[in-house]
Amino acid sequence: MIPNTIKLYDNDAYQTSFNASVLSCERRDKPLSKPQSQPNDGAKEDCGKPLYDIILDQTLFFPEEGGQNADGGTLNSHPVLDVQIKDGIIRHTTDIPFSPGSQVEGQIHWQPRYSNMQQHSGEHIISGLVHARFGYDNVGFHLGIKNVTLDFNGILTPEQLEQIESLANEAIWKNIDISAAYLPSKQLDTLEYRSKIALAGPVRIVTIPGYDICACCAPHVRQTGEIGIIKITDAIKYKGGMRISIQCGDRALEDYRMKQQQLSAVSVLLSSKLETSSDAVGRLKDENFALKGQIMALQTVLMEQKANAVPADAANLLLFEPQMESGVHKKYVNLLTAKCPGICAVFAGSDTEGYRYMIASSCQDVRPLNDRLKKELSAKGGGSKEMVQGSCSASRAQLYSLFDGCNMSFYRTDQFVR
Ligand SMILES: [Zn+2]
Repeated sequence: MIPNTIKLYDNDAYQTSFNASVLSCERRDKPLSKPQSQPNDGAKEDCGKPLYDIILDQTLFFPEEGGQNADGGTLNSHPVLDVQIKDGIIRHTTDIPFSPGSQVEGQIHWQPRYSNMQQHSGEHIISGLVHARFGYDNVGFHLGIKNVTLDFNGILTPEQLEQIESLANEAIWKNIDISAAYLPSKQLDTLEYRSKIALAGPVRIVTIPGYDICACCAPHVRQTGEIGIIKITDAIKYKGGMRISIQCGDRALEDYRMKQQQLSAVSVLLSSKLETSSDAVGRLKDENFALKGQIMALQTVLMEQKANAVPADAANLLLFEPQMESGVHKKYVNLLTAKCPGICAVFAGSDTEGYRYMIASSCQDVRPLNDRLKKELSAKGGGSKEMVQGSCSASRAQLYSLFDGCNMSFYRTDQFVR
């Protein structure tokens, strides 16, 4: 029987290489269910190559567990594609076999692991503070390559979240020692800690004095100062509670950089100060809204003139307008149907952008035309007997040829009368 894997990361979360004996190597009968959790240098996509599950006597690889992604790294310089734990046994997936009984040298990717330690320790501080201040429990945790989310079973206001964020960063400045130890069940009975469930045997307790005591299996930083910064970047209502996103340490720095670059670019484009760029965007939106109104008014006048210019004896109309606001489109079609007894079709747009269309008639059913557009030119649209509207990505030439096939004469934009 294979014994439980010794978790070397429990004793020293800062060790990056280790030696171990191969206890078992089995060819996987299933491909990996999802891409590897951590980017591995030189690791290739699983492209039908056989994969192997390796069990070692001990490991530094933290498996995917408790909402946290698995460590990446290598065994004898071969990439580890995934790390999973089941019943205390950790399996490392590789694309080459290792002989049982042989020795391997393992190496974990330190940068993503350390980032995970920063995120996870930050999560404990936030969860501990939320629990102590507001009594809500952390009921869900996800630590992915990009996102860290915490779910709470209660709702926090923006002010409360800001308060938690400030207190969490104070905890970083105090540079408090973080400890992790397996405590026997006797001691656990009297201890108040988060994630308390009845477990047989000792439970690993992670303590941040004054902030959090929690049952947890993951590696953490030694001191809160190493977290660097904790930033709450998003908060949404979720399952009757709240889902908040956080960024700590290196990820917070990266996030800050990205946001500063974006905001700097926006403020340069708007010639505004960084700190008042949202006001400038607001003004731009208002201006844009006013300009749209002016365009609508001008286009309406233009369309009235164009409708007047349509010959009084035109039986049917097939008109193209490169630029036309959708509000004007409808007005134009209404003007045309009042003047022309047949079918009035107006296509707005261009061959490259595609067309929005409205087809109306005061005395004919326009739906068969719409059906043809859908069938022959993959248009999308619908409507009533009197008016249909939709869009299509056909060319003007294709549309002409479709209307030519209707056995009706259309007065067309290009003045060409069939
Ligand atoms: Zn934890």
